[in-house]
Amino acid sequence: MENKKLKVLIVDDDVELREMYVEIFQNANFEVIVANDGVEGLDKATKEIPDVIFTGIVMPRMDGFSMVESLQKTVMTSTIPVVISSHMGREEDRIRATKLGVKDFIVRGTTRPIEVVERISSLFTQAGKEYQLDFDVYAQDAQKIAKDLNFQANYLCLDCSAKLVLKLKLINPKDRVFEAKFVCPGCGSVVK
Ligand SMILES: [Zn+2]
Repeated sequence: MENKKLKVLIVDDDVELREMYVEIFQNANFEVIVANDGVEGLDKATKEIPDVIFTGIVMPRMDGFSMVESLQKTVMTSTIPVVISSHMGREEDRIRATKLGVKDFIVRGTTRPIEVVERISSLFTQAGKEYQLDFDVYAQDAQKIAKDLNFQANYLCLDCSAKLVLKLKLINPKDRVFEAKFVCPGCGSVVK
């Protein structure tokens, strides 16, 4: 995912809204395709296989829900994550969206467009992904942490003397919650 742009298909008959999202998604480094209604959305989804679809509900010819149902009937498009953009935020629409397995239900007007893009981006940040942080063991904070945790001031493993690394595991991508632990890259022990 590092170098490849994510492709988003925006399906909405509200041209102004659509164009606004085109700009915001492009600024967030997405490749953007648009469709005016469910029929066009279905057609473009099948041809382009986007990474994610962001669709309105009420549209001429075919609404968002019918489009999602059709997408799910075709193997090639059945696994594309869908995010619904709801104009009215009706509870029955939310329930229907959940039943259809859509990834997120966004109520227009209560969520800022930039947050919408962040929420959609977070679908591609996998839970459980691990990160390794490099840190300066002699920095003031590091020394304080070592003291608090009863580590050696130089952050070396007591068993094999390798320098400990700080590992972060993504627990909840949406809220960016991480679990942090010090691990020895030498013997693999987790330092407690
Ligand atoms: Zn070790």
